Amino acid sequence: MSYFTGLRCSLCQEVFPAEALYVCDKCLGPLEATYDLDGIGRRVTRELIAARPGNLWRYREFLPIEGEPRTGFHAGWTPLIRADRLARELGLRELYLKDDSVNHPTLSYKDRVVSVAATRAVELGITIFGCASTGNLGNSVAAHAGRLGLACYVFIPQDLEPGKILGSAVSGPHVVAIDGTYDDVNRLCTQVGDRYGWGFANINLRSYYAEGAKTYGFEIVEQLGWRFPQHVVCPVAGGTLLPRIGRGFRELRDVGLADGPLPRIHAAQAAGCAPVIHALENGLEHPEPVRPNTIAKSIAIGNPADGYHVLQTVRGTGGSGAAVGDAEILDAITLLARTEGIFTEPAGGTTLAAAIRLVRDEVIPREESVVVCITGNGYKTADAMADTVPGPRRIGRSLREFEAYLSDRHEIHQRADGG
Ligand SMILES: *Cc1c(COP(=O)(O)O)cnc(C)c1O
Ligand SMILES: [Zn+2]
Repeated sequence: MSYFTGLRCSLCQEVFPAEALYVCDKCLGPLEATYDLDGIGRRVTRELIAARPGNLWRYREFLPIEGEPRTGFHAGWTPLIRADRLARELGLRELYLKDDSVNHPTLSYKDRVVSVAATRAVELGITIFGCASTGNLGNSVAAHAGRLGLACYVFIPQDLEPGKILGSAVSGPHVVAIDGTYDDVNRLCTQVGDRYGWGFANINLRSYYAEGAKTYGFEIVEQLGWRFPQHVVCPVAGGTLLPRIGRGFRELRDVGLADGPLPRIHAAQAAGCAPVIHALENGLEHPEPVRPNTIAKSIAIGNPADGYHVLQTVRGTGGSGAAVGDAEILDAITLLARTEGIFTEPAGGTTLAAAIRLVRDEVIPREESVVVCITGNGYKTADAMADTVPGPRRIGRSLREFEAYLSDRHEIHQRADGG
């Protein structure tokens, strides 16, 4: 049984049927899925959810599909890790990492949104599935299209990391690299979707795609024992994830699955692409587009489609934001690996660096609980770390050479200790 009731304009509230529509023809506002929340509240209990398999469909009543899930049976339900060693470095009492760097099958949060968009695409009879991508979305769209046997087109800006391009190409889609920025790619895909009726996960299927991101928020609450944290620090690219975490929290409270004060949600961006942070700092209602220039390519979107909703959510929850430089991003990546053994990509480095800044500036009080959103995997962007991490020390194969190496190390340590 489905509790999904249709689409509604998030600005003027006009109601639309549940088709491959994404903008309101009255006011051009984005369309959002609607649900029978009273019905969900009567049916869904913590026990019902807990008894289901560990994937994002455990929250299926809150997702915009009419039939059965078609893909994503191993997506979602990623670890929420208590990070005490990292917390000590930051001077925090209670710190968690929500770790979508190990989301299945393509190692980023995008497998949540694509699982929902692809299932809905099949329900709508779409046979050509595509996206405009900064890398991770293409990887996920290509993988799920492969599994579902859909024809697939992945459009990317031409300057992406080799690991991200390969990660899409391996599943056999048509990969089209555009001579321009992500925002140019997005504009072209909008035209292609309109002209050919193809399903673009993050464009004309965006109303469905976006809903998958709520599961990231649902899981944080369930994994904390149906308790809200006090702060969430979240990266912002196109602006899908951050407002949907907020929406997920509100829905859990509305149906009675969780109670208490909602978390403050803080936005993280790279200084080289920070339209949302700029808008927060300058009191703007809509972000002003910028031209990206940062190593955090997966979140380098200069004109975020859901920027308005990010600002509404951050302000509405009493959150704030921080823009961090590329050097801080690289330092945060190594700090995370050194303290918690998690290798994230620059988007995750951005989020952690922003959290560090917000703690240092006392925006986040040290005794309050914090969740940092780790959304992508560092093995895809290893090139970004090339000058940051030392190579191995090469030695011969004899024990004597090893001991020479070791006594070198001792001397270095003694010198470092002032001995
Ligand atoms: C896409 C992406 C995000 C966030 O994107 P939104 O468009 O704001 O939802 C964050 N981190 C990584 C690694 C991503 O690939
Ligand atoms: Zn409208």
